[in-house]
Amino acid sequence: ATESARAEWDGVGSTSDGRRVKVLANVGAPADALTAAEAGAEGIGLFRTEFCYLDVDVELAVADQKAAYSAVLGPFAGKPVIVRTLDAGADKPLLFLAQEDEPNPALGVRGIRVSFERTGVLDRQLEAIAGAAEESGADVSVMAPMVATAEEAAWFADRARASGLSRVGVMIEVPSAALTAREVLDAVDFVSLGTNDLAQYTFAADRQLGAVATLNDPWQPALLRLVALVGEAAKEKGKPAGVCGEAAADPLLARVLTGLGITSLSMNAGAVRAVGASLAAVTFADCERAAAAAVAAPTARAARAAVAEIG
Ligand code: PEP
Ligand code: MG
Repeated sequence: ATESARAEWDGVGSTSDGRRVKVLANVGAPADALTAAEAGAEGIGLFRTEFCYLDVDVELAVADQKAAYSAVLGPFAGKPVIVRTLDAGADKPLLFLAQEDEPNPALGVRGIRVSFERTGVLDRQLEAIAGAAEESGADVSVMAPMVATAEEAAWFADRARASGLSRVGVMIEVPSAALTAREVLDAVDFVSLGTNDLAQYTFAADRQLGAVATLNDPWQPALLRLVALVGEAAKEKGKPAGVCGEAAADPLLARVLTGLGITSLSMNAGAVRAVGASLAAVTFADCERAAAAAVAAPTARAARAAVAEIG
């Protein structure tokens, strides 16, 4: 984004012709939430609750969880916050939810799959989230990680609603969930694409391995085609679809995602201003043109070049 575009960012995400796209932050701790609020984020699109367990090897009591979540939600009273239930396993191991040795942890019991085995842990977390929502005054939604099917999404939605949480979503970060986005959306109120894991599972390329980083490039047309499927399904169902993976932090790619029908982008706080300014500098039709060019490109490099040229 240019300096002049930067000056135009007024804290409300939208294209120059008024297509609304919420610019949100990813957070994991109270300090992150303060930084995000100062950066002008309109809300939190991903609160990674597992960060509360970095130094703890037992499950926190509900009251302690509630206090930890409230501290993060506090700066966002009256604003939208999406709290994600624990995403334990693989790249985010939690001691108190340690799995038996698995040959392929990224393909094993992680994310919502842990919740199927430990329903009490999930229900206590949902209770704490509902309590923190009430205490903080933040406009809280809850979502589950690593959902693979519409059936799993429905299972989670039932449990979350039973805990008094009325707005429930799931992450789309497994290709099967993207391919069945319509059915997934029938079960929940919104979805949020986790492009870090969605790339990992689409390209069969470990997200932590530098040697395969070019496959995990969010400009890869195969990844963007999955985002397009989800954007179309969201439009058809009249429900919101966000992106909360690293893809959302790239100001140029943010235009592509907007053109694909994504209505909120959540990123590290440092990217909020540049992404907001990038969207404010173009029309929605420009975003749609950028999206069409990127999706049709033969390579990630060609996708980036085509969109840069459109400007
Ligand atoms: C993702 O996978 O893109 C995501 C946002 O979740 P995490 O990075 O926490 O796995
Ligand atoms: Mg993920």
